[in-house]
Amino acid sequence: MKKIRIAIDGPAGSGKSSVSKMVATELDYRYVDTGALYRVVAFLLSEKGGTPQDEPLLREILSDISIDYKMEEGVNHIIANGRDVTAFIRTNEVSMLASTVSAIPFVRFALLGIQRAFAMEEGVVMEGRDIGTVIMPSAELKIFLIADVELRAERRRKELASRGKTPPSLAEMVEDIKQRDHQDSTRKVAPLKQADDAILLNNSHLNLVQTAKSIVKYAHERSE
Ligand code: C5P
Repeated sequence: MKKIRIAIDGPAGSGKSSVSKMVATELDYRYVDTGALYRVVAFLLSEKGGTPQDEPLLREILSDISIDYKMEEGVNHIIANGRDVTAFIRTNEVSMLASTVSAIPFVRFALLGIQRAFAMEEGVVMEGRDIGTVIMPSAELKIFLIADVELRAERRRKELASRGKTPPSLAEMVEDIKQRDHQDSTRKVAPLKQADDAILLNNSHLNLVQTAKSIVKYAHERSE
């Protein structure tokens, strides 16, 4: 069976990360979380006390950034400039800031190389917002994963709680997610959008394992 490239895009909290990880494990493919790249930039910016308007600082951060992934016991560790930043990049503040910096064209441009290198590999599951449209337009399988916004907000709250963080109320989380989706889908460069040839998968009534299974089934069909 030949190895293919799988692009999984969708709005915040649609289950992309968990599902992509499961699919990659099942197929023995590499898993690439592209949102982590924007999160790292946002985290480093806030750590230096900068704002998205601070172009020289952002350019300085991007000029010598190195980001690696290290899978350990099912946890995808994110290593930025040699430091494990996994615990710092999943907060709600970093999520919002990541969405803001990701709308800046030179930020997206600077992170293209890292992503395109992964896109050359066969046997990859890459997830984000513009994977099927910009990063891997020729991927053999593209999935656009969606779910009801309340459900997505609830998932994010559980995820934050599982990391020992106090999550915002459901209503606040719904608002944050809506704002982030709006920002991500209305930006000028590489907005969140379903690729013409992507399969739309609504997992509001499926659990993550069922969702992963259906993607694995599509993957087997495409790799025959
Ligand atoms: O997927 P995740 O929630 O970790 O992504 C964080 C933010 O990074 C998103 O809200 C989006 O603004 C940005 N992003 C992007 N393009 C991608 C992946 C993420 O713009 N391919």
